[in-house]
Amino acid sequence: MEQVENRAVQTPTEFVVAQPTHLSFWQTVLAQFDEVAQLLRMDAGTYEILRRPERELTVAIPVIRDDGSIEVFTGFRVQHSSARGPCKGGIRFHPSVNLDEVRALAALMTWKCAVVGIPYGGAKGGVQCDPLQMSEGEVCRMTRRFTAAILPILGGKRDIPAPDVNTNAQTMAWMADTVSMIQGKNVTEIVTGKPVALGGSLGRREATGRGVAMCTGELLKRLRKPLDETTVAVQGYGNVGSNAATILREMGCRIVAVSDVTGGYYSERGLDVDSLNRHTAAHPKGLLEDYTAPGVEQIDNQELLACEADVLIPAALEHQITAENAPYIRAQVIVEGANGPTTREADRILNERGIIVVPDILANAGGVIVSYLEWVQDLQAFFWDEDEVNQRLWRIMERSFAEVWEHSQQEAVSMRLAAYLLAVDRVGQAVRARGIFP
Ligand code: NAD
Repeated sequence: MEQVENRAVQTPTEFVVAQPTHLSFWQTVLAQFDEVAQLLRMDAGTYEILRRPERELTVAIPVIRDDGSIEVFTGFRVQHSSARGPCKGGIRFHPSVNLDEVRALAALMTWKCAVVGIPYGGAKGGVQCDPLQMSEGEVCRMTRRFTAAILPILGGKRDIPAPDVNTNAQTMAWMADTVSMIQGKNVTEIVTGKPVALGGSLGRREATGRGVAMCTGELLKRLRKPLDETTVAVQGYGNVGSNAATILREMGCRIVAVSDVTGGYYSERGLDVDSLNRHTAAHPKGLLEDYTAPGVEQIDNQELLACEADVLIPAALEHQITAENAPYIRAQVIVEGANGPTTREADRILNERGIIVVPDILANAGGVIVSYLEWVQDLQAFFWDEDEVNQRLWRIMERSFAEVWEHSQQEAVSMRLAAYLLAVDRVGQAVRARGIFP
């Protein structure tokens, strides 16, 4: 057995080979972890354990296309850490899915669950595919075969998937049904983000966006900026972005810009969020494509990031805010709806410019919090009304935001560093308390 030397971490960047500006997503996540491990003076054994995912599975997924041909897709499930509880994390269907990305997203889930204090570890999964070019039947068959392929490492007490980019409640229903058919019994606790008709929780669909809105409200309160004098731009008008925009509009903010993969829309006077939502609901793929309204101009995604708004919410994909565009961002506050939307280099530039960033592992934790509440309801087979779910979400988000904010004030560090310091320390404590098996 390899002997782990019990020394403090010395050179945090020793394993990072790429230049800081060209770090992959996984290298970015590792570089952030290295910085925090050193600040915490983490022992070398715990450091080595948390630097590697516990388990990685790559699967081939043959699917019969509608024309009768067979296409084989590649899928992944990575479990980064189960130290604090069963692994938890979403499933992404996207052409750019790869092992590096899934590893990074799995580790972010470990830190996220720790920062909000819910009893889960971190995992992530994905299939490299373009669901926008597939029929519903093809996506369904791919989902079921992928589920069967990763089932050996899933389980309500082992690893519990949820929706992410291009997956939703329907995808989770197919996953739960596939597992239930294979096991010959109802297994609803195997995934969260299910339809309410199938053991899902009220409030789960809106939960990530609601958490983003709650964090925005908590920060603006501390900055003494009234909500009705605040303008907001949202990149990525999917589950997270559209719900964040809708709830922030209800809270009194003016949503001045939104975008998705088809382009963006800007109105200084404020966009009509209800009409945006009607448009995406009527679009076959839920997109903003061809949206028109009086006084609304079309912009591209780079213009959206640099537009005149007090708050910027990146809610699309990782590494959107880069060293190239960070100098042009005009927002004073960034609330990260997406996972990993800011590169390390961009983060440094934003910090220097005094822009406050509410980090992804706190800002978008509303989703996994209500996933946790869904799982608890499934396990006890007793369901709460939406008010109860939202109140519990609120209590956890409010407490977590306050802890991160206070830690960042006390230590005079960014909210990102504060969140990581709290999260990594909690996971480290769990690793040490368990000891090494056998
Ligand atoms: P989604 O598929 O519902 O929406 C993604 C949106 O981003 C779509 O509108 C898409 O058109 C848009 N988009 C894609 N590429 C873009 C680009 N280059 N520029 C602008 N827009 C682009 O996915 P989602 O669930 O809303 O996830 C969005 C982000 O939030 C991801 O980073 C995801 O990991 C993160 N997240 C999601 C949840 C959740 O509960 N769904 C929870 C936590 C974090």
